[in-house]
Amino acid sequence: MPLIVQKFGGSSVANAEKILKAARRAIRAQQEGNQVVMVVSAMGDTTDDLLDLAAQVTDRPPAREMDMLLSTGEQVSVALMAMAIHSLGHKAVSLTGAQIGVKTDAVHRKARIKSIETARLRRLLDEGNIVIAAGFQGIDDDFNITTLGRGGSDTTAVALAAVLRADACEIYTDVDGVYTTDPRVVPEARRMNRISYDEMLELASLGAGVMHSRSIEFGKKFDTPIHVRSSFTDQPGTMIVDESERPDQPVSGAAITKDEALITVHGVPDVPGTSLEIFSRVAGKNISVDMIVQNVGELGKADISFTVPRGELPAALEAVQEAVRIVGADQVTSDDNVAKVSVVGLGMARQTGVAQTMFDALAAAGINIHMITTSEIKISVLVSRDDSQRALRTVHQVFELEKQAPVPAMATKANERAADAADVVARLQGINMEDLTIDDITLDASQARVTIQGVPDQPGIAARVFKEIAEAGIFVDMIVQSHPKSGGGQATVSFTVPREQLEKSLAVAKQIGTSLKCKGTTSSPTIAKLSVSGVGLRTHVGVAIRMFRAIADAGINVEMINTSEVRVNVVVEGNQGEKGLKQLQQAFADVLR
Ligand code: ASP
Ligand code: MG
Repeated sequence: MPLIVQKFGGSSVANAEKILKAARRAIRAQQEGNQVVMVVSAMGDTTDDLLDLAAQVTDRPPAREMDMLLSTGEQVSVALMAMAIHSLGHKAVSLTGAQIGVKTDAVHRKARIKSIETARLRRLLDEGNIVIAAGFQGIDDDFNITTLGRGGSDTTAVALAAVLRADACEIYTDVDGVYTTDPRVVPEARRMNRISYDEMLELASLGAGVMHSRSIEFGKKFDTPIHVRSSFTDQPGTMIVDESERPDQPVSGAAITKDEALITVHGVPDVPGTSLEIFSRVAGKNISVDMIVQNVGELGKADISFTVPRGELPAALEAVQEAVRIVGADQVTSDDNVAKVSVVGLGMARQTGVAQTMFDALAAAGINIHMITTSEIKISVLVSRDDSQRALRTVHQVFELEKQAPVPAMATKANERAADAADVVARLQGINMEDLTIDDITLDASQARVTIQGVPDQPGIAARVFKEIAEAGIFVDMIVQSHPKSGGGQATVSFTVPREQLEKSLAVAKQIGTSLKCKGTTSSPTIAKLSVSGVGLRTHVGVAIRMFRAIADAGINVEMINTSEVRVNVVVEGNQGEKGLKQLQQAFADVLR
């Protein structure tokens, strides 16, 4: 018999009427011939109210007791939901996380799921019950109640769907799906019919707060399709699966992160271990670093720029100052008036000129770009906060994201997917479900690097550079533009190209350099790009640090860095590639699948 998991968020169970409505939906699904597991969140603002209550008692609540308190919110909802189903004449049993056997680690308030037992769930389902599971909670080895972090019920739902090999995981919420961008900023944003896990992971981390990121990681890791839909209608919403909605289009969605702050460390000695020193100190304060740009050094010195959440700027600066003393950098500057605008799409990995289209549109709108990073499926620019909403709308327009295109059928058949998924579950048996997994560590030794130094900091420069490069038919892989030096008002732009296109690229770069009166052009004919890819790279902080440490330990100098949800790339000197690869394979041996 098919099995479906239906998750109802706080707004979908906010009062008795809504609880009854959700109950009817579950009953209908059961009557249509499915076994049904419901996962529910705390009613309405309950979790916030509980947090407030605790704050009235103490400003330092012990994390264990906080979890004891917060978990009551979901316990109320599951009990009421079971009563609602009974009142409608059907069988239902409510279960807490502990009763299901959701085992987690012992990290209160952001626990990770280790394993879930299925025997009791299966038995209750086979007896004809709708099983109602409390979201967001579990127990550690010592039977302490733990919670998974705000929004964690999504993760409970997808994890249950994964272990039960559910045919569907439906997430009922107060929006009707995932949009091409935030419709409050860009009114013409469109609901997508389908989005890939990787795209969704990037967008979720960029502030498209529809789903808990860890739930998408689960979906990806266990091949569990997720259907995000409205609890108010019967309309289909957005499917999150492994294929993109517009495989032929370079961009699927766009996002903005408004509260960013930029830190630049100037004049970092260009020797092994400096990035490690800086980022391990920031991570030591539990601050997550987002865009990282290290640009190739000039006269043996490099600039390293990165962004942190705006509220964490003071703490991050403190950490960085310590690192600066140790590595002997020149100075640190910061800017807390910036925002990040990104476009994401699986399709861009196979097309040229995507970055240029974005830069061009921003230039035409008179928007200055402070910093650029690109990954296989994402291009991010840092702009002034005042420009950011306009920038978002501009890129949404230029990639025509508002246009509804016919959605092609999925390339892989449902039964093949199910077989793959069964395989994944078998393979992952006996490990902790949410552990970091690295799928791949690779060395790409086929590229060369071009750097233009002393580029004027004005709108339109990046557009011009990459337009001419694209017109010359050159396929650009990584692009890194660092923040201009304080006072000097100049930027450094580096990019990588296939080695056989180096001469052509260099000629174009020199020409642009001369006409824009840049300081100079440098290049390296042999670079090695080392990449680590997998699931959970961002939510498991420290992957980049582990990578930097491994590379520094081998005495290898880092030239360029960029990071995304699913991959960290580091460019090193060409003759260090093999050594770096071996070093990384060792460093990640425990999590490499
Ligand atoms: N009730 C928890 C929260 O509000 C979990 C959830 O809603 O997913 O964060
Ligand atoms: Mg909630």
